[in-house]
Amino acid sequence: MHFDISPKGQDYLNRVKAFIKNEIEPVEAAFWSEVTATCPGGDWRQWQVPAILEELKAKARAQGLWNMFLPDETLGAGLSIKDYALLAEQTGRSLLAPTVFNCNAPDSGNMEVLWRYGSEAQKQRWLMPLLAGEIRSVFCMTEPQVASSDATNMQATAIVEGDEIVLNGRKWWSSGIGDPHAKVAIFMAHTPDASKDRHHQHSMVLVPLDAPGVQIERMVPVFGDYDAPHGHGEVNFSNVRVPLDHFIAGPGMGFEIAQGRLGPGRIHHCMRCIGAAEKALELAIDRGTQRVAFGKPLLSLGGNRERVAEARIAIDQARLLTLFAAWKMDSVGTFAAMGEISAIKVVAPNVLQQVVDFAIQIHGGAGVSRDVPLTAFFSQARSLRLADGPDEVHKSVIAKMEIAKRASHGDR
Ligand SMILES: Cc1cc2nc3c(=O)[nH]c(=O)nc-3n(C[C@H](O)[C@H](O)[C@H](O)COP(=O)(O)OP(=O)(O)OC[C@H]3O[C@@H](n4cnc5c(N)ncnc54)[C@H](O)[C@@H]3O)c2cc1C
Repeated sequence: MHFDISPKGQDYLNRVKAFIKNEIEPVEAAFWSEVTATCPGGDWRQWQVPAILEELKAKARAQGLWNMFLPDETLGAGLSIKDYALLAEQTGRSLLAPTVFNCNAPDSGNMEVLWRYGSEAQKQRWLMPLLAGEIRSVFCMTEPQVASSDATNMQATAIVEGDEIVLNGRKWWSSGIGDPHAKVAIFMAHTPDASKDRHHQHSMVLVPLDAPGVQIERMVPVFGDYDAPHGHGEVNFSNVRVPLDHFIAGPGMGFEIAQGRLGPGRIHHCMRCIGAAEKALELAIDRGTQRVAFGKPLLSLGGNRERVAEARIAIDQARLLTLFAAWKMDSVGTFAAMGEISAIKVVAPNVLQQVVDFAIQIHGGAGVSRDVPLTAFFSQARSLRLADGPDEVHKSVIAKMEIAKRASHGDR
């Protein structure tokens, strides 16, 4: 296994680091203050995105720091998953950077779906404006009424009637739907077909968010915060009709596409967690060395130095495991790396949660204020232990594979 970054990846890495330091970090606090001032709570129809974001996007795009997640040489940066992973780590240090580089979830995953599985017409209508950063997209899979960690529970339907698909169902945690630029959803639903097995009974359908019957009912807060100007919506789809060519890759392809979508996306999420954990550790050390109590720097009190060491060990372990998963995906494909992908999806958000918790503690009251990004990192870590499959579901995947391996080897 080789973890070396390619010369091309190294060039991107240097430029991404410099852009974050010189262009994003100086304005990031002001950006979030403006969001707080201009996004009135759950009244998401009033939300605005501060103008500085478009300026930063234009600068990043002009420098070629754009769509770097996409393996396509022309439309993206043509980087391997492992090389891009190291860039994702850097972008995770900032809450704004992924969007500035047009590499943010859920758009990156949705773009990858359209790039891999979309028809030419779908690419022209939706992929190109997404790649240009002109519109935003949403992924609607989770439903409030059923345990959605088991996707076969899904109750929403996508039924073919003549030359149309009729969509019905209620979704929530539809991330990004509060953004005024959100224009399209990928709606996942049940398309019953007695001739197919249970994993070919679900479809992904492209739905313009202004289609009649799409009703965004509210934004769901995360720990009381609406995560503006992005937002997580609860959406009702009531007899929404779209043409047949709005199926992605045809009816019944939902699970197959979902596997392809979630593999690279999990690497990106995990590396962003590692970047956020690095940032949290830096903040903890700075605070702990600069502030004094009982005659000593905070870091020299109690078990704080040991906590720093434990954080370093945990972050490095998580990074190595994630790079191993990325390397395996590059070398033998996403399917063969399923166990490793599940492993990092458990490890990285838990490491971030542990490191941020320490960073909050050593900051005292400031740790839970908005003066430092720690509450946002904590929220990211805690949410990711649920989103894209809760910890327990990924552990059950790993256990199943381990037990099957043992069974196939018999006694030794
Ligand atoms: C901030 C945030 C953003 C999100 N964004 C999106 C999005 O953009 N699009 C989207 O479709 N969804 C999104 N989600 C939803 C997320 O993917 C789901 O919450 C997740 O899949 C779990 O589904 P559920 O909430 O129905 O929990 P349930 O399925 O009800 O599970 C609840 C709990 O049951 C336990 N459990 C479940 N299965 C097992 C098992 N096999 N073994 C042991 N215990 C188990 C786990 O502890 C689990 O946390 C988001 C969620 C959050 C919090």
